[in-house]
Amino acid sequence: MPITKLSMASGKPSVIPYGDKPKREYDRAYNQRRQTTETDYVKFYHSAAWLHKRREILERDYGLCQRCGKDANLVDHIIPSKDDWEDRLDSDNLECLCRECHKIKTKREWYKHHKSKERYMEINLVCGLPGAGKSTYVKRHMTDHDLIYDYDDLMQALTGLSSRHRNHDVHDYVMLFLDQMLRKLKAEQSFNNVWIIRTLPDHRIDSLLANYHHINHILIDTDASVCEARIAKRKQKIQFQKILNDYQAADWGGYRRVKNC
Ligand SMILES: [Zn+2]
Repeated sequence: MPITKLSMASGKPSVIPYGDKPKREYDRAYNQRRQTTETDYVKFYHSAAWLHKRREILERDYGLCQRCGKDANLVDHIIPSKDDWEDRLDSDNLECLCRECHKIKTKREWYKHHKSKERYMEINLVCGLPGAGKSTYVKRHMTDHDLIYDYDDLMQALTGLSSRHRNHDVHDYVMLFLDQMLRKLKAEQSFNNVWIIRTLPDHRIDSLLANYHHINHILIDTDASVCEARIAKRKQKIQFQKILNDYQAADWGGYRRVKNC
């Protein structure tokens, strides 16, 4: 089989022979096609609303790439605007990226669309206070072939208790499972996404998996008062104040903050 690479040709990503350089006409063809068939799309990127929003997101993210922390070159739609035109100005769907990380993301999206069998698995670390809406966020973004590690759900399943008591003996088993799961995930490409739901950041997860997979760090940043009210309503028996202290002391650098969950 000849060695190939993924490149832009005639305005769309295509697999071409490795030595080939995409030609300039392709760019021109692409621009022309954009002008004629994607007027709305082009208009949007020239609109005052977009330019304003773009500036706002650059400020919000301190001009840093939200995946690697280097200087950002662009503001990207997390869910591509073509797939989700409605949310094109939604701040929660926008993030700053550097050129390198954007390239990786584009390539991954292309794989997802064109080569469903060759998966490009991502690990999503979803953190936040109890009651922040982490599971809700995951349910909203998961696909039909994902792996979800949810501490609370596992605790409930293993204790048979509905009201989410923390049982310290069972806790060890739930954590043991996470350990084993992380080790197995190193070699895995079987899922579209892996979701690990936790309260606090866990650097072990990064150090174990960062060399093997792309990890998205997501912080469900709901007001503590809202979380506390939800916990009270669910009659969950947890030490909220203690968790809140740890949460506030944690290092959330590199996490993308999501509001309103
Ligand atoms: Zn980057």
